[in-house]
Amino acid sequence: GAGDIHAEVVVLGSGPGGYTAAFRAADLGKKVVLIEKDPYLGGVCLNVGCIPSKALLHAAKVITEAEEMGEHGISFAKPKTDIDKLRAWKESVVKQLTGGLAGLAKGRKVQVVTGYGRFTGPNMIEVDNDGEKTTVSFDNCIIAAGSEPVTLPFIPHDDPRVIDSTGALELKEIPKRLLVLGGGIIGLEMGCVYDALGSKVTVVEFMDQIIPGADKDIVKPLATRIEGRYENIFTKTKVTAVEAQKKGLKVTMEGPDGEFTDTFDMVLVAVGRRPNGAKINAEAAGVAVDERGFIPVDNQQRTGVPHIFAIGDVVGQPMLAHKAVHEGKVAAEVCAGHKRYFDARIIPSVAYTDPEVAWVGVTEAEAKAKGLKVGKGVFPWAASGRSLSLGRSEGITKLIFDESDDRVIGAGIVGPNAGDLIAEVALAIEMGADAVDLGHTIHPHPTLSETVNFAAEMFEGTITDLM
Ligand code: FAD
Repeated sequence: GAGDIHAEVVVLGSGPGGYTAAFRAADLGKKVVLIEKDPYLGGVCLNVGCIPSKALLHAAKVITEAEEMGEHGISFAKPKTDIDKLRAWKESVVKQLTGGLAGLAKGRKVQVVTGYGRFTGPNMIEVDNDGEKTTVSFDNCIIAAGSEPVTLPFIPHDDPRVIDSTGALELKEIPKRLLVLGGGIIGLEMGCVYDALGSKVTVVEFMDQIIPGADKDIVKPLATRIEGRYENIFTKTKVTAVEAQKKGLKVTMEGPDGEFTDTFDMVLVAVGRRPNGAKINAEAAGVAVDERGFIPVDNQQRTGVPHIFAIGDVVGQPMLAHKAVHEGKVAAEVCAGHKRYFDARIIPSVAYTDPEVAWVGVTEAEAKAKGLKVGKGVFPWAASGRSLSLGRSEGITKLIFDESDDRVIGAGIVGPNAGDLIAEVALAIEMGADAVDLGHTIHPHPTLSETVNFAAEMFEGTITDLM
């Protein structure tokens, strides 16, 4: 038909994995088609994920810092929130980035095809744009279809007071009482935003701690701070029913002390994301999809079908943008004939809450569970001049070392800007640095980055002068 196209590399989905793969393949000389169902490029991360959440978290930080500065002699009037203006600013940040991507695609002659793509054969995708069909035949394909929020059967998701992360980022209103269902990164980041904007927040988490993936001691300063600010944090508690009533959403929960109910103005469901693998008719191409919707790949991002690759949230955990980007580069380079492998040792994780919680590599809990012989260096930020001069003292930098050779194999950092600080340890782990490397590297004073240096010295036992 008129809309038929051939691509050397077709990329299905334009999130951070997809656009990175498309651009890399084009830079390596391939004729690339990028298929996206939504009107804007950038996927979850740019449109309804990483970027809008960070814009709102910045607003939250400004509000709480202004509040807290009152204790140190600078008082501001109570902040007034113009929710329409805040939303417009957030949208302008997103637009600037997604518009930039459109320009970058054009500059590289990456052809963007808008519509929903499904495989019709091992070398063919049909794209449906509101009934208008385009077929794209391809030599190589990179599946980057991403993920979507998990819904729960006992929750009335069609009630407008039940929202997911996308709904929370829409910032339609600021509820008086908000229940955040799920104490993971996404739920806690949104909780942080709504708390600053004036909601009374309750968090309910099934596991015995919020952010279950990180070590307890690293999560503690965040837990302590939000316990002071929020209405309630329920751990070891599950929601068993949500009933839409006129006056609110009646939520039944089951905790260590039994069943209880409470009524909220809004419920944010943030219990995880499920991959979109089962929605692209992968079987027509012979690509296997597991029962959860993930697409298994090898260390070159190759599916069971040699010319079809998959990257990002659709291939597995952790569902993070920087993992998708890295995998996108690997897949594109392999498509272009390069010998590239996904051989990263570690993938850092960050909750951009206040304080931020960041971790990378082996956690202490994991080391214990696996019986690894490790040592640690822990530096409390109460002894960091820079942290105290930010008005904050609760942070911790913890490094985990392999006892056999003193190499750093993990880290947990909590405190303002922990997410930026973890990158140094990520590099150290990738390069096989040991405690002396980190301890003998001169770090600028006074910075929070010194806490990494000091934590290494704590392990070495050589620290003499903290400030
Ligand atoms: P996605 O970004 O999910 O993109 C997939 C794209 O494919 C979408 O645009 C979709 O429309 C399109 N698509 C799917 N199927 C089809 C089809 N059949 N036809 C056409 N198009 C299709 N990660 C971080 O690293 N840092 C963060 O701070 C962070 N914050 C987040 C905050 C929130 C609220 C959320 C929800 C997520 C956050 N994430 C964060 C996770 C991050 O957004 C994802 O890991 C990342 O977007 C995954 O990228 P991807 O390329 O695999 O897929």
